[in-house]
Amino acid sequence: MNQPTTLEPYNLFSTDPVLADAVAREGASDLAGLADFGERMGTEAMFGLGRDANAFSPTLRTHDRFGDRVDEVDYHPAYHSLMEFSIREGIHASHYDGRPGDGRYIERNARMFMGAQVEVGHHCPTSMTGAVLHALNHQPDVAEVWAPRIKTRSYDPRLIEASKKSGVLMGMGMTERQGGSDVRANTSTAAPIDGGGPGGLYALTGHKWFTSAPMCDAFLVLAYAPNGLSCFLLPRILPDESRNSIHLMRLKDKLGNRSNASSEIEYTDATAWLIGEEGRGVNTIIEMVSGTRVDCTNWSAAMMRQAVSQAAWHVSGREAFGARLIDKPLMQNVVADLEIETEAATLMVMRLSGAFERSTVDEDEKAFFRLGSAVAKYWVTKRSTPIIREALECVGGNGFVEESILPRLYREAPLNAIWEGAGNVIALDVVRALQRAPEAGVAFVAELERASGVDPTLDGAIDQVKAALKEPSLNEADARRFIEQLAIAWSSALLIQHAPDAVSDAYVDSRLAGDHGFELGTLSSNVDVAAISRRAVPLPA
Ligand SMILES: Cc1cc2nc3c(=O)[nH]c(=O)nc-3n(C[C@H](O)[C@H](O)[C@H](O)COP(=O)(O)OP(=O)(O)OC[C@H]3O[C@@H](n4cnc5c(N)ncnc54)[C@H](O)[C@@H]3O)c2cc1C
Repeated sequence: MNQPTTLEPYNLFSTDPVLADAVAREGASDLAGLADFGERMGTEAMFGLGRDANAFSPTLRTHDRFGDRVDEVDYHPAYHSLMEFSIREGIHASHYDGRPGDGRYIERNARMFMGAQVEVGHHCPTSMTGAVLHALNHQPDVAEVWAPRIKTRSYDPRLIEASKKSGVLMGMGMTERQGGSDVRANTSTAAPIDGGGPGGLYALTGHKWFTSAPMCDAFLVLAYAPNGLSCFLLPRILPDESRNSIHLMRLKDKLGNRSNASSEIEYTDATAWLIGEEGRGVNTIIEMVSGTRVDCTNWSAAMMRQAVSQAAWHVSGREAFGARLIDKPLMQNVVADLEIETEAATLMVMRLSGAFERSTVDEDEKAFFRLGSAVAKYWVTKRSTPIIREALECVGGNGFVEESILPRLYREAPLNAIWEGAGNVIALDVVRALQRAPEAGVAFVAELERASGVDPTLDGAIDQVKAALKEPSLNEADARRFIEQLAIAWSSALLIQHAPDAVSDAYVDSRLAGDHGFELGTLSSNVDVAAISRRAVPLPA
């Protein structure tokens, strides 16, 4: 009946040479382990768990039948299965097992990339749980207690005191009703108990307007202590096994991300430990955000890959007007346009991951990551929405139907551009990064220059970036134009170095030289769209 077979089961790693080459280049050594993961992640059963975890969203139980507060969130068994799988695989924290720069983080990010293609919502807590460890470095005595609990490979969803659990999950509470991006507008307060101070106890009162994964065992949160906005570790259950004084008011009814609960929470004299110094809360929690930012950039690239794989698979197995769709020149143009953008996003995320992994032992990588993480977060999280939308259209009417994964990917896509810094905030962060840390600009130019001397269009773009970086002050209103200039030049440089000429030429000509229409599928006739579109079909290497 001219309906393609389902793509699943398929190996998410061995059918994706762009991913495999990128992670090998950035230091991954266990490629066989990644291929094994790709096989296990790409089963019909795993895709089914992803579907169910989103079809049956979590629900909040505020009270028991006697009227006492319970503040419990109930999740579908599919969600628990996904969590169990991802924690056992160490996606939350396996990268802390080894030495800095030994390739563990890039391997973990490859697993994250594959896992997010199947179900991304449950990765909100897996991402936050590991990322907390960066911030806990500011308070070694608290880290000593919590880090071993975080690093276990055991998913233990019981709401009991953390020391009695085989593994814990961690969340984050920054956003309040009156200010999300502008966290300094927070009104929650923290009163010292017994003098307070780093590692000391405080009583927190206030609210958080968004706290995702509220079933986490503890959260890093911001509140105003006497000396300013500070970071605290707030457990749900206290060491004496009593419930901390936090109440889940309701769960958000969201566009997407429906497997993941996002709550509104109120604190009334809730007990929490100060992490780092009073008044240094933003600097402390931002260490956590660095990790989760890379993850949500990764998720966007992963969802692009999943959407484009589904689209390319569909058009390979479907005929219209007497031929397979993938052999129709105009469809080839659309799929090729989707593919070059997805390849660029994959290269960017994996290059960024490598830089983050090496940033603790390499000052140049640290400087590059400072700017590169913001550029990638802005660009990849934004590009995913139009790419997924067009991929959905390739699948025709079936693409609009839930049974194809595409509607879920499409609803999910805009979120990554909002949390962990919305687009404008990230664009302004780039301006700030350059003003405060000019070495970040120098490192970014060095990154672009790895590809110089090959394509005059890129060489011209690098000169423009250099000239823009020389400006003593950047106009806020131009921040998006500026960050896009950086992103497209970086994408071009990556593709020139690591992709076949057909792909890099298509990208440079369309994105840098501007030979492209408003919509996707408008590559010029010089581009080898037939060859590029075939790269999008997920077939074993
Ligand atoms: C599903 C979901 C889950 C979430 N989970 C969590 C969580 O677990 N923990 C948590 O702390 N938060 C969470 N958030 C909150 C999220 O981080 C914030 O929504 C985000 O930081 C933006 O803050 P805001 O909503 O207050 O928007 P605002 O800060 O009011 O921003 C609104 C718009 O204004 C723009 N803007 C802001 N400042 C400027 C400026 N100076 N110039 C120009 N434009 C500007 C922004 O880019 C944005 O487009 C979650 C959000 C969602 C949607």
